Amino acid sequence: MTSPNTGLPCPPLTGLQACSDHTWVKRAIGILQGDGRRSADTHLVNPVFRGLKGISIYLKDESTHPTGSLKHRLARSLFLYGICNGRIQQGTTLVEASSGSTAVSESYFAHLLDLPFIAVMPKSTSRQKIEAIERFGGRCHFVESPREVYEVAARLAAETGGYYLDQFTFAERATDWRGNNNIAESIFDQMRGEAHPVPRWVVMSAGTGGTSATIGRYIRYRDFDTRLCVVDVEHSAFYEAYTTGNPGATCAHPSRIEGIGRPRVEPSFIPGVVDHMIKVPDAASIAAMHVLSDRLFRRVGGSSGTNFFGLCWIAANMMKAGEEGSLVSLICDSGDRYTSTYYNPDWLKQNDIDIAPYVALTETFLDTGEFRLDALRPIA
Ligand SMILES: *Cc1c(COP(=O)(O)O)cnc(C)c1O
Repeated sequence: MTSPNTGLPCPPLTGLQACSDHTWVKRAIGILQGDGRRSADTHLVNPVFRGLKGISIYLKDESTHPTGSLKHRLARSLFLYGICNGRIQQGTTLVEASSGSTAVSESYFAHLLDLPFIAVMPKSTSRQKIEAIERFGGRCHFVESPREVYEVAARLAAETGGYYLDQFTFAERATDWRGNNNIAESIFDQMRGEAHPVPRWVVMSAGTGGTSATIGRYIRYRDFDTRLCVVDVEHSAFYEAYTTGNPGATCAHPSRIEGIGRPRVEPSFIPGVVDHMIKVPDAASIAAMHVLSDRLFRRVGGSSGTNFFGLCWIAANMMKAGEEGSLVSLICDSGDRYTSTYYNPDWLKQNDIDIAPYVALTETFLDTGEFRLDALRPIA
């Protein structure tokens, strides 16, 4: 039969190509949304520090997710993003470049959906994370340096005909920054009944940069009077990029604080929504981690120490200026993952990290409000 208008053959009315099967997609999204309902609202902890008069501290505890870190949210978002873009289907091999935490969470979701998963990670990744990935059925592929993870992950995905989840590129867009119970919406919601419901500052470190991007965008979208401070670590390219405006900045040394600090400026880091950046020594991050763990009666991870030290620095500046208000930061993961590193005095010695001066400084600050800046190596 030909078309009366064009004379061209009409597509046959029967034998339509079998409509692509949505059954798997429907089931997969149902499973991911179920996980979201069960684990979306983590606690917003409000510890008391006697020295901080007029300043309330809130810490969003992301260590309580089923896979132990804030990467639980990211992994769920990346899976939904890949599935809804038609890139992840039944049987698709998933590959990721990770410093560990993301791979742990993705391995869990891959298990939920019965998909093969390969994590490409630096060989320095902590044993606890490797065990967790393998426990969920994921496979680990190690490379010498964190700089190699991107290329190797892309290659493995191509070779297996699989899909590269690519957190460093997609973190900022896989999360719905307008809301949909993202971490920012959850924080501002939980703050609603507090004495100072709109925080003066939110303080966050950067790995992919995705969390700070979500928080910074949400602050603007909802027109909050809150500012965003990003805290960078010693061996990382973000701070230089932010202060010089050069997105091509790199850092030769791998970061010693797992989960944060990158050798390049990741595409998911959005400098335009960051109001201020500081860079803190690793000794300060690990010292603050120890002090915070002590005060919370449980161990937090290294990047939570980075966040907490940055938060103390902001609090000290507010107190100096006679300002009152609330500050929010994150507990990103638990210290249980770092018993052989940050909590091991031998590891600290081997890495030439002396935390004592920063422990003293942080404790004095929390108890008296006095922040002895002169005890610090320069921070910006
Ligand atoms: C990823 C990560 C961060 C940083 O979060 P991003 O959203 O990737 O910037 C902080 N701490 C830990 C433990 C992480 O795994």
